[in-house]
Amino acid sequence: MLLLRLVSNLLPIFAFITCSLAAQDLYRILGVDKSASDRELKKAYRTLSKKYHPDKATGNNEKFLEVTEAYEALSDPTSRKIYDQYGHDGLNNHKRGGGAQHHDPFDIFGKFFGGGGHFGGGGGSGVRRGPDLEVRLNAPLRDFYNGRDTDFTIEKQLICETCEGSGSADGQVETCTKCGGRGAVIQKHMLAPGIFQQVQMQCDQCGGQGKSIKHKCKVCGGSKVVRGPISLTASIEKGMPKGHRITFESEADEHPDHVAGNLYVYIMEAEPVLHEDGAQRTDGAFFRRKGDDLYWKEVLSLREAWMGDWTRNLTHLDGHVVQLSRKRGETVQPGLVESIRGEGMPIYHEGHVHEHSHDHDEFGKLYVEYSVILPDQMDSGMEKEFWALWEKWRKKKGVDLLKDSGRPLPVVPPKDEL
Ligand SMILES: [Zn+2]
Ligand SMILES: [Zn+2]
Repeated sequence: MLLLRLVSNLLPIFAFITCSLAAQDLYRILGVDKSASDRELKKAYRTLSKKYHPDKATGNNEKFLEVTEAYEALSDPTSRKIYDQYGHDGLNNHKRGGGAQHHDPFDIFGKFFGGGGHFGGGGGSGVRRGPDLEVRLNAPLRDFYNGRDTDFTIEKQLICETCEGSGSADGQVETCTKCGGRGAVIQKHMLAPGIFQQVQMQCDQCGGQGKSIKHKCKVCGGSKVVRGPISLTASIEKGMPKGHRITFESEADEHPDHVAGNLYVYIMEAEPVLHEDGAQRTDGAFFRRKGDDLYWKEVLSLREAWMGDWTRNLTHLDGHVVQLSRKRGETVQPGLVESIRGEGMPIYHEGHVHEHSHDHDEFGKLYVEYSVILPDQMDSGMEKEFWALWEKWRKKKGVDLLKDSGRPLPVVPPKDEL
């Protein structure tokens, strides 16, 4: 009932749009280029029709009908050609000539998503919902830092386009002769002599469908569905946690008998790739993420750790440079962990819309852990000079490590060391 009322409410708008379309470019309505492929048209329609579907919170009847009309005209090679050459007038003449009849826009939508053009759930419409689908998508840490729209392709069950989901080559669907369209037959089982049990079984001739198809569609073999690839775009937002789930409504396996379930895409962090090329190169492969914070390991030479006077430029995940440095005389102990505010991951707020400028983005911390490498080979001249230097200074300024350690002194004291 609800559906009927909706459609009848929409009809005047539908007619109105048909007349006023002259003002708008069909390609622009779908947000595609004039050279768009069938696949691109489909993708655009898929996204927009779902966004504007009146069943949705983001719904907009007018826009829904607009995109459906545009898609209907452009998806048909003949009418697309006419539109390209003669524009709206040509298209209208073509329609008047009986070239194309109007479809219910929800039928076209239903062809994409199954279930007769309306989303399941709510309203008690009783439309069955198919199973949900889950996939994992690997993205490099850089995408989690910067945010990025990632295109990906999955293979799934689609409504057969050749027969438009009827399963029939000629559009003829007949009532099953065995069950008379009920989809079930009564079978009698004899339990004991003279005692019968009646059991209702699914009709084996029509598989419980109640209908039979004489000439099966050659593409889907009468199954109404085919498997095929479909391209979608996942928006990875800045700071999204790894393993985050993005929901694509009604993008699971399609079937004319039910509304497609949801596709859930889990955004996983890809293993870092070393030796990556290109201008986009950052030190990204060396950052490690933990929640809102990033970790980095920096190596210093003995001289640097001890004497200071060094600088390191880290290229961050978006290409900006973080400078680490010590002045002369500033010592870094091995294992020291330094924390830098504001250089961690952007802090993600679920459901938060990034409308305002990014001045207010908050970030976690960057933890830099230092390790110190001692030289294991020295030029012999250098070794002698260092040795002499140590000999000169160890007696005067030496530190008694044993005394400093707080342990009891042994009977024979060891030599002092610097
Ligand atoms: Zn088919
Ligand atoms: Zn049957």
